[in-house]
Formats: sequence, structure tokens, C-alpha cells
Amino acid sequence: MTICELRNVTKSYGEGATRVDAIKNVSLAIEPGEFTVFSGPSGSGKTTLLNQVGCLDRPTDGELLIEGKPTSALNAHALSQLRAHKIGFIFQSFNLVPVLTALENVELALQLAGQTSGVREQALAMFPKVSLTGLEGRRPNQLSGGQQQRVAIARALVKVPVMVIADEPTANLDSDNGEQILALMEQLNADLGTTFLISTHDPRVMAHARRRIVMKDGQIVSDEAGARQAAAPEARQSP
Ligand code: ADP
Ligand code: MG
Repeated sequence: MTICELRNVTKSYGEGATRVDAIKNVSLAIEPGEFTVFSGPSGSGKTTLLNQVGCLDRPTDGELLIEGKPTSALNAHALSQLRAHKIGFIFQSFNLVPVLTALENVELALQLAGQTSGVREQALAMFPKVSLTGLEGRRPNQLSGGQQQRVAIARALVKVPVMVIADEPTANLDSDNGEQILALMEQLNADLGTTFLISTHDPRVMAHARRRIVMKDGQIVSDEAGARQAAAPEARQSP
């Protein structure tokens, strides 16, 4: 089943003379297991597009479907439930809760999705997958940027989301750490079949793309297979 679909989506900010169409009449479908990278200059609409897909914001016009279901009729509570259960987020500035340990940050994602049993076990099981075994008890300020982003990846994946949205995930990392974070996301995509949507203006990130979407002035100007070829469908596992 198509994971998400934008049908003629426009998102505008402001009114009248100050109105900006951040994305204009964009249509796009994302299939299970994709590893798609969005690039394009600053201001081209990457964040706006990912915010629509992630239900962080609502289209001004057009429709967003998640797993085939239209979202425009959902109220704010239903949208936040959808986000909590189905979508993992990774941000440029990691966005961990500073007073919680790494483990508690990961547990929080399950708690917000309403899970009450097995939370600790499930959260702990993520740490070896992101190579953070032994650092579960540290707070974000006791971790490097790369380690914080690994915690954020664990938090995004622990609830087995239908897709993970990563907006400029390497922008605050040095090149070595950025490469490692990309390699980790690629590995998780291959091992778990998790669908990733990643925005970047870093050319090194582009090399990891399976599908490469270039944006300009709020529109998709190209959409093609990247250098890294898609795995055979039978090699993908459903989460
Ligand atoms: P990108 O992520 O590619 O840099 P954005 O989606 O952030 O692009 O921005 C697209 C356009 O929308 C830009 O012209 C930007 O100034 C505008 N924009 C983004 N967010 C807002 C907002 N909250 N209010 C007004 N304009 C915005
Ligand atoms: Mg952006």
C-alpha cells in the first residue's frame, strides 16, 4: 500500500500581498521501503513539504493521504495520534528532552503513542541497533552531536513507524558524523524496511539516495532513481 500521497497540495503562508506559496500544487506518492532524499536550495519548500507529509501542518489546498486514508477531515487530536503512532521524526537540532536520559527519551515516544507495557524492554532493544550500548543513562548534554542524533533515530524507530521523516539530519554534524548517521539510516532501511524521507542540501547525503527529488520554488523539478539502486522488493521486510 502507498504509504503517503500528496494530491495537488499547496501550502501558503500569510495573506494578500504578503502571501507566500511555499509549495505549489505538488503531487507525490511514497511507497513502502523507499529511501528518498529531497534536495534543492534554501527556501525551495523542502521543510514545508515534509511538514505536510508528517502531519505537522495542514495543506492550504489539496489532500494528504496516509496509508490511503485522507487526513483533511481529521481533527487536531486525531492528527496527533496519527503522528504519534505512525511517523518518526529526526530533526537538524536533535530535539531531545534535555532533562531525560537517552533511554527515557526513547521510552517517551512509546508512552506518547499510548503504550503502557514493555516500554523499557522495547526502548532498551534499540540501543544496540544504533550503536549506543552502555550510554542509555546519559542525558543529552553528556552525549556528542552524533550520539544525540543516534538517540533521535532510536526514538523515531522504536514505535515501528510507517515512515521516518528527517529534515536536514546532518546539518549540525561534522562530515564524519554526518556520514555515519546516513550509513546508519541506510542500514536500518535495509534491515527493517523502514521508509525514510530525508531533506538535505548536502551533496554527500545525495549519494545515499535511492530516489532523488529536487525542489525549486515550491515545486518538484526532478524525481529520479539515485545512484544507490533500490533493493529487490523481496529483500524488504515489512516492519
Ligand atoms: P526549505 O526547507 O527548502 O529551505 P521552506 O519550506 O522552509 O524551504 O520554505 C519555503 C518558503 O516558505 C520560503 O520562502 C520561506 O521563507 C517560506 N516559509 C516557510 N515557513 C514559513 C512560515 N512559517 N511563515 C512564512 N513563510 C514561511
Ligand atoms: Mg528546510
